[in-house]
Amino acid sequence: MSLNAICRKVLDGRPLAEPDIRYIVSLPADRLDELLVCAHTIRTAMFGSKVSLCAIINAKSGTCSENCSFCAQSGHHGGKSPEYPLLPASDIATAAATAKGNGITRFGIVASGKLVGDRDMVGFTEAVKRVAALGMAPDLSPGILKPAQLKALKKAGLKGYHHNLETSASFFPQMCTTHEYAEDVAAVRAGVEAGLYVCSGGIFGIGESWDDRVELALLLKELGVQSVPINFLHPIQGTPLEDREPLAPEEALKLVALYRFLLPDRALRICGGRLTVFGQSRKAELLGSGANGLMVGDYLTIKGGSVTNDLEEIDHAGLLPETE
Ligand code: SF4
Repeated sequence: MSLNAICRKVLDGRPLAEPDIRYIVSLPADRLDELLVCAHTIRTAMFGSKVSLCAIINAKSGTCSENCSFCAQSGHHGGKSPEYPLLPASDIATAAATAKGNGITRFGIVASGKLVGDRDMVGFTEAVKRVAALGMAPDLSPGILKPAQLKALKKAGLKGYHHNLETSASFFPQMCTTHEYAEDVAAVRAGVEAGLYVCSGGIFGIGESWDDRVELALLLKELGVQSVPINFLHPIQGTPLEDREPLAPEEALKLVALYRFLLPDRALRICGGRLTVFGQSRKAELLGSGANGLMVGDYLTIKGGSVTNDLEEIDHAGLLPETE
């Protein structure tokens, strides 16, 4: 077995076997560059030189009923995040128009909380209509949506449903105890069945093992999600993970490359924690690790970088932002 042979397997559309995956996971640090070259080759074969860009708005923040250990918005921790109810649809549309001015075509409306009540459904529906009217793809990350809600929002113009599984089923109980992993899996499955573009991924560096990372990727593949956001822990004061060291950049690059091998034809979107792990000076390296998507602008509860800077980095890497 060799890395090139495993890469060839992926390019030929053949599934990886367990020993192939073990081989990648156990590659030593001095072979990281080789792994990244293979991951970039797969990415280029699947997506050419295009980079999919999206932006989000934190449309409803804080006081969440859930206790996810990494999250500043949980009402269970002392993390300091802003607290406000769902923003008016006009404010959401204004933020989307700004993103559109930067050439961004996917716009995510993100809200804290587990379930969506009737009042917020009215607000989400109006916001989705307004973002769609701008000629953008409205995505929604509102927690768990019921099938009837998914159907109604799709009718209003919703293109994408975002709901992260965050980690593996095995590790989930160490990260969250206020709901069952199966509820999140069912929500993702319902989004896929509703015919929406489903974006579901995880957060890394929260104490999970490489086995957990592989388990999550294989489940996402089986569920048929089209886009996989990759978040890196940004330790937030007041949360149970406030003292955890962020991932080393090399481990983060290896993770993205592994996900490219495991999910060759799915969009891999680098989202929160990019600056925490890589800083300004190294964040462009992610574009050569197999990722083909970036969240630009601000993240949920932490500041992001400048969109102009991201677009320059994409250009320097010889890549092109996707425009539709
Ligand atoms: S990750 Fe989502 S569900 Fe979990 S505490 Fe934060 S806002 Fe709530």
